[in-house]
Order: sequence, then structure tokens, then C-alpha cells
Amino acid sequence: MITKPKGTIDIYGKEAKIRSYVNDVLDALCEKYNFDRIETPVFEDSSLFHRGVGESSDLVRKETYDFKDRGDRDITLRPEGTAGVVRWFNENKLYGNMTDPVKVYYNMKMYRYERPQSGRLREFTQWGFELFGSNDPMSDAEVISLAYNAYRMLGLDNVCVMLNSLGDKESRETYRNALVNYLKPHLNGLCEDCKERFEINPLRILDCKVDADSDILKNAPKPIDYLNEESLNRFNKLKDYLDLMDINYEVDESLVRGLDYYDHTVFEIKINNSYALGGGGRYNNLVKELGGEDMPAVGFAMGYDRTILALAENEVSIPINESIDIYLLYVSESEKDTACYLAQDLRLNGFSCETDLFNKSLKSQFKSVDRYNAKYFIVLNDEDLAKDQIKIKDNKTKEEETISINDLIDYLDIHM
Ligand code: AMP
Repeated sequence: MITKPKGTIDIYGKEAKIRSYVNDVLDALCEKYNFDRIETPVFEDSSLFHRGVGESSDLVRKETYDFKDRGDRDITLRPEGTAGVVRWFNENKLYGNMTDPVKVYYNMKMYRYERPQSGRLREFTQWGFELFGSNDPMSDAEVISLAYNAYRMLGLDNVCVMLNSLGDKESRETYRNALVNYLKPHLNGLCEDCKERFEINPLRILDCKVDADSDILKNAPKPIDYLNEESLNRFNKLKDYLDLMDINYEVDESLVRGLDYYDHTVFEIKINNSYALGGGGRYNNLVKELGGEDMPAVGFAMGYDRTILALAENEVSIPINESIDIYLLYVSESEKDTACYLAQDLRLNGFSCETDLFNKSLKSQFKSVDRYNAKYFIVLNDEDLAKDQIKIKDNKTKEEETISINDLIDYLDIHM
């Protein structure tokens, strides 16, 4: 038997209903913030992700699904959302004549060749959004508030924004030099990957999962101590806005989110002070890097699958419908045609309806009524139908009424 590939999941039944509900909540929230939905291709030219995410990142070095297509093109499956959205932004030259910010959100499958474990998959979903055009800290605050409110709207109250600033180019450069000088004599105490990272991009060392708890990294200089005045003022202004919006945040001086493209704001959203449900930041250089023009931008990506897990772990009650409106039973073959057209009529009028497709006994059909948790049921029989009548029964109260078959829709409209 063929089984699903490692690190993938089938989404079915209740799980699918929970996801539909989550999608509805997120769509409605994005509408309030006036973000438009975008979907980019599942695969893109490899160079987009390699350049966009950064050649020195673990993601590109070890985790992308890269292959040649039948036309010998280098293709990569989408490992994250930002690069594709920036490619779309540039391809449509949206950086020209901008009068208002461009705001888009996505809900897309991502692909990373990771070691699968709980909350870490090879095919997973991210809900995320990007805001282009504004460098004002109020736009960082808008993006952080959208991310934060998404969790709140879903019923996850104990979330906290972990916040840091890497500063502008000048601040980052000063910090990078300080970090390199600090790390140089300690290199032997770090893992092999970090030694390599030191040569390519030392900032990434701070994100190393292997060395995360080492004193070397704990005592490393922090970006915040190297912010120039302008960057520090900007960071303080952002915190003022977050205070005004009553957003629960903490400054985490070690947070760097090692990607090359971040400047100023970086943030993650944590739940119960433990794992990250998502992260984002400002990336003012990426649009130009990928062929566009200078364009400030800020974004966020939610780990959708982890958020679903968090909903279960925190016992958040989700309003999903696990019942149907009506079940049509029939006594014998002769009432089957009526079941057929009534089911059509009910469904077209907005009621969920089931009838028996197995030619089961009446007793077995009654079992289906309960399995489907039907609110009403009707036992179609020739005697009633000869008089154009049906008996409709409330499955909870067991109250029964005899009505004209032509009044069924009106009856349900009134009673449901
Ligand atoms: P990143 O794009 O790496 O910044 O990740 C943003 C969020 O996506 C993380 O905080 C996770 O919640 C989620 N995420 C990242 N990688 C995976 C994965 N392999 N499986 C499931 N969720 C993931």
C-alpha cells in the first residue's frame, strides 16, 4: 500500500472543519485591515528563493525542495511566502507611483525538507501578510497588531510578541563588527555549522539551534546596544504605538531571526512563553535585492499547523457544525424518488440533508439519523405521500407535525 510521504498530513473531517473556521476568522480579520488576498505559484525559479531567503540560510542550504523540470529549468518548491510576493510586486512594477501602501495576505502551503516532528512538517501551511511602501513605525505596529489580533480572535489569549530591533544599515554594520570581534576567539567552542556561518554570515550563528544554550551565545553582544540614535528613536516610537494598542509584548534582546533581509523590527509571537507560532519583521532591502526599487516593507508569517495544535492544547472551543439539518428516510423503494427530489430541493434552499444511498432497512436508516446528528427527520411513506403530506419530527424533542409536502421549506425556515 502506498502511504503518504514523510512529513505530510491528510486533512479530513473535523480537522478540515476547524481549518475552514480558522480561515474564515483570518479572512474576516484581514478584511478589517484592508489586506487583499494573494496566491503565488507553488513553484518558482530556484534563484528567487535562493536569493530571497539568502544562500547562507539553513533553509536554502539544507531544506529547499530543488529540482530540474523536464525543460531543464531549476525549480524550487515554495519554502516561505515573502519572496514570491515580492516577485509578484516587482513583476507588476507596483513600486512605481505608489499613493497608498500595498497590503496583501496569503494562506499557502510551504515545503521544507526538515526532520519531521510535532508541529514541524515537510508540507505545511503559513498564513502571512506583507505591507509595502511605508517605513513609518506605525506600519510595523499595524502588522504586529494584525498578527497579534489573529491569535486573539482565534481564542488564544496567552500570546506575547517578542520584539527586537536590528536597526538600520549603519547600526547593523557596527553590530556585525562587534559580533565578529567577540566570536573570533570563541569559534572552537561552536558547532561545525557555526564555524561555516562565521565565514558566510555571522549573524546566523545567533539563530543556531545546536548552540542556542551555550554561554558563548548568551554572552554575545546584542544588536540593541549598537542602534544609532535614529534607529533607537524609531524602536521607541514603535513600542509607544504597541502600548497605545494594548499589545502584550516583551523586548527580547537576543532575537535576530537570522535572515539577511531584516532591518529594524524583528518579532515573533510566542504562546504560553514557550514555542513560536509565527514571526516577521521589516525588510527594506529585499524588493531592490530581487530586482525592484528601494521599497520599505514589513511582514509576518504564522505557522498555521502549529496554531491549530495550539488551539487543541489550550482547549479553545471551536464552533464547528457536526450535525445536519434533516435526514430523509424512506420505507420502501416506491418513496425513493420523493427522497431524491426533496433532497435536491432542500439543499438548493440552504438546508443540509442526507438520505439513504445504501437501500438500508428502516431500522438502519434510523441509526444514520443519529450518526449524522440530524436536527429533523422525515419518514417518507406512500400513505402520507398519497395525501401530499409528510410527518416531520424534531430529533431532540421528538415532537412530530404533519405538514403539506409543499410547505416543508417554509416550515424549516420558520423552525431552524
Ligand atoms: P519562518 O518562515 O521560518 O520564520 O517560520 C514562521 C512560522 O512558520 C514558525 O514560527 C512556525 O510556526 C512555522 N513553521 C516553520 N517551519 C515549519 C515546519 N517545517 N512545519 C510547520 N510549521 C513551520
